[in-house]
Amino acid sequence: MEYEAVIGMEVHAQVITASKMFCGCSADYASAPPNTHTCPVCLGMPGVLPVANQAAIEATILTGLALNCEIPPFSKFDRKNYPYPDLPKGYQISQYDYPLCINGYLDISVGGQQRRIRIRRVHLEEDTAKLMHVPGGSLIDFNRAGVPLMEIVTEADIRSAEEAYAYLVELRSILRYLGVNTGNMEEGAMRCEANVSVRPKGAQEFGTKVEVKNLNSFRSVRLAIAYEIERQTRLLERGERVHQVTMGWDEERLQTVFQRSKEYAEDYRYFPEPDLPPLELSREWVEVIRRRLPELPAAKRARFIAQWGIKPEDAEILAADRAVAEYFEAAVGAANGVVAPQTVANWMVVEVLRLAREAEGGLEAARVLPKDLVALIQMVAEGAITQTVGKEVLAEMFATGAKAEEIVERRGLRQISDADALRRMVEEVLAQNPGPLQQYLEGKQTVFAFFVGQIMRATRGKANPHIVSALLREELEKRGGPAAPTP
Ligand code: ADP
Ligand code: MG
Ligand code: ZN
Repeated sequence: MEYEAVIGMEVHAQVITASKMFCGCSADYASAPPNTHTCPVCLGMPGVLPVANQAAIEATILTGLALNCEIPPFSKFDRKNYPYPDLPKGYQISQYDYPLCINGYLDISVGGQQRRIRIRRVHLEEDTAKLMHVPGGSLIDFNRAGVPLMEIVTEADIRSAEEAYAYLVELRSILRYLGVNTGNMEEGAMRCEANVSVRPKGAQEFGTKVEVKNLNSFRSVRLAIAYEIERQTRLLERGERVHQVTMGWDEERLQTVFQRSKEYAEDYRYFPEPDLPPLELSREWVEVIRRRLPELPAAKRARFIAQWGIKPEDAEILAADRAVAEYFEAAVGAANGVVAPQTVANWMVVEVLRLAREAEGGLEAARVLPKDLVALIQMVAEGAITQTVGKEVLAEMFATGAKAEEIVERRGLRQISDADALRRMVEEVLAQNPGPLQQYLEGKQTVFAFFVGQIMRATRGKANPHIVSALLREELEKRGGPAAPTP
């Protein structure tokens, strides 16, 4: 029998805001010494009152709109009760039956196939404190307690580990475009749980699901889901049943490991948060927020392809990050048709992104402005410098902030297209290499490339390769050589 996987994802994303969800403490928890960004509210002292953070509500609605959700006119906060050391109040303020956003979807593409993943809900809650387990006990840092946290839940529409991966990559790209989340999974700013079940292919009902936690990277998500699908399939094949459990991902052994049973639903005794008024979300307010939506990665991708003829795989890379996309757009604008958009894309994908990764602060901090990049590309396109030299110049531009023209002049890198000068070099190289010349004359055509290489080396990559080839061909034929290979 053939089996198919059914997967639903739950993603927790810390909302980037100045202050915490229900108090005025700074939400910048990571760079501060432990337990310095705290107050009676986020420490859960008796008698204090929460006040909802409007910026976090707006960021969550903005996210819902980007995910094609409905924003119902009414929403409220609820208490989710459970005892845990990282939860000082003994309950978490979350949202139960009236989340801020419902019924959305996100389109992803996997292996050239378009898939629609429905979004069940996006709700807002507060993060817990951070526990650090040390020899002999545990430490608690309350800086993170009360930081706004969005939860984004899909319907069980995902059918493979690859789709789950693609969903997460697209979701992170959107969250970062919106500026609502850093997308940093390794630091826990974005945390993901995968619900995985397997059923006979074609069946209508879902199988029993297993929840997989501790997924600290995109790679882990893909590996853990693939592992879990395999494990459950083998159980079913043997006629055994899958137990409803929570599993963790063991990064070392690359396998899912049992954490706890979920055969009995946890009872969180949800009830409406009595200390916060319910939220009435006016249509006007929602429309004001909607106007803040930027062009999203999928739309950018499509436009790069349709409007500028960019190769789909390059468009995907260039649109994934907003700073990169905007840099590219500015460069294409500066090129103003003189340099083709795809040529700009090639330089971006191959050279600029690598240099930006190596540079501190990435592309945003780079001293090479889009118009400076275009000036360099133009020098290459016009033949003022060779492609090889161009790459070297770009690296120096990133390192020093100097302009292309300046570097080329100072270092004397202009391409040598002077046929007389180049012919003298060709003659010299042939004279200096009687052995290889003899081999060539005897029919060993590969020596041609050796001679070209020698001339390039002698000119430190500055010789115009087309002129060099033509001259070399002439000189070799003069010496009685066979017809040289055409480039
Ligand atoms: P829980 O109450 O255990 O959190 P929910 O019904 O709220 O379960 O669903 C949580 C996530 O699990 C959602 O993304 C949902 O789509 C997914 N899900 C629900 N049932 C299944 C199933 N049988 N197999 C895979 N995913 C599922
Ligand atoms: Mg769950
Ligand atoms: Zn506080």
